[in-house]
Amino acid sequence: MADYNQLVVLDRIRRARTGVSRVELAVATGLSAQTISNAVRRLLERGFVVEGDRLIRGRGKPRTMLLLRAESGYALGCHIDPVALTFALVDLSGRTVDQSVMDTPAGPEAVVAALAVEVARMRERNGLALADVIGLGVAVPGPLDADGGRVVHPPWLEGWGSVPLLDLVTAATGLPTQVEKDVTAALAAELWQRHHDLEGTALFAYLGFGIGFALAHRGEVLTGSSQNAGEVGHIIVDADGPQCACGDRGCLGVSISLEYLVGRAVDAGVLPPGTARATPRELDCGMAALAAAAVAGDEAAVEILRRAARRVARGIMIVANLLDADRVVIGGANAERLAPYLDAAAAAEFATRATMRELHAVGFDGSAVGSWVGAVGAASLVLDEAFTPKAASLVLDEAFTPKAASLAHG
Ligand SMILES: [Zn+2]
Repeated sequence: MADYNQLVVLDRIRRARTGVSRVELAVATGLSAQTISNAVRRLLERGFVVEGDRLIRGRGKPRTMLLLRAESGYALGCHIDPVALTFALVDLSGRTVDQSVMDTPAGPEAVVAALAVEVARMRERNGLALADVIGLGVAVPGPLDADGGRVVHPPWLEGWGSVPLLDLVTAATGLPTQVEKDVTAALAAELWQRHHDLEGTALFAYLGFGIGFALAHRGEVLTGSSQNAGEVGHIIVDADGPQCACGDRGCLGVSISLEYLVGRAVDAGVLPPGTARATPRELDCGMAALAAAAVAGDEAAVEILRRAARRVARGIMIVANLLDADRVVIGGANAERLAPYLDAAAAAEFATRATMRELHAVGFDGSAVGSWVGAVGAASLVLDEAFTPKAASLVLDEAFTPKAASLAHG
């Protein structure tokens, strides 16, 4: 998909859920009727678009609706989490057509090998050749050296130092690969599943082994200067909270980490004293047991989770104020366990501390994708990349003069 105008037109067609006519495309893009006609003809020839019903809208002759042919391309996504590898296959419309999950093997070499096997298996199961897949997105916990596709000492991934993940996965799968932070991928998944209806400033709070944020403005994910935006682990959310490695007390990351919460549950007698919590899986099991105890009515368990929820809500409120957000989506493996307490905590926090509360509400939502959000998001980012007309192709386009290009950016 190279041509700039074709991409602009294709992007409009895929965003129109019930189809769009050539006349509407011309109005929406500002391109001439002739340019639209040429671009649509090429997209029909290449099989990305099909013609649908002829509809009468307003006066004039019936207009043929144009629809994305969802099965004309696919993207794969993999989320590398300390406990599980999740995989998703999405079609060109962003719809998930296949998914799978396995335990995370130890060490980067074993993860890359397992990933390559599962990606090939998923392609074969769905009858897809390498050329039918636009690309593979890999979502990982940050931080990320995005230029080099390198994961840099991700917390909780044992044996991972500085790993050139992009090169390793590209070589092992033969697919064009991109690597992104998992929370960024998660927000991309929400945008696609909600048909890019998150119009204002949206936050995604990802609760996994710790917490991370992603941000989108008018449907575009913003990632910062090195794609590592959203690392807010050292915001202080509770002056009486636990000691953090940074020297302060009550930082958001440490106050709601699985390590700390499971430790609290052991101290409070909610979990047995010998509860193993050395590995990510053991911590995850401990956290599940803590959440189950709370659901069963254990008062000490409820209090631990209620306090954690208040700390999460405080962190979300600070970030929402900073960015003037009007929508917060909360997801990640640990979000479900805190969900029963988060609504009340967030309502209390925002009623007193949301600085914009007299101007606009802040909507709260669970994830529309659930536990697959990282993998679906990684695949969604591949679609974003494929659909986004690049500045480079804009400059190279013959119809575009440098002056017009600089005006467009100004
Ligand atoms: Zn700290």
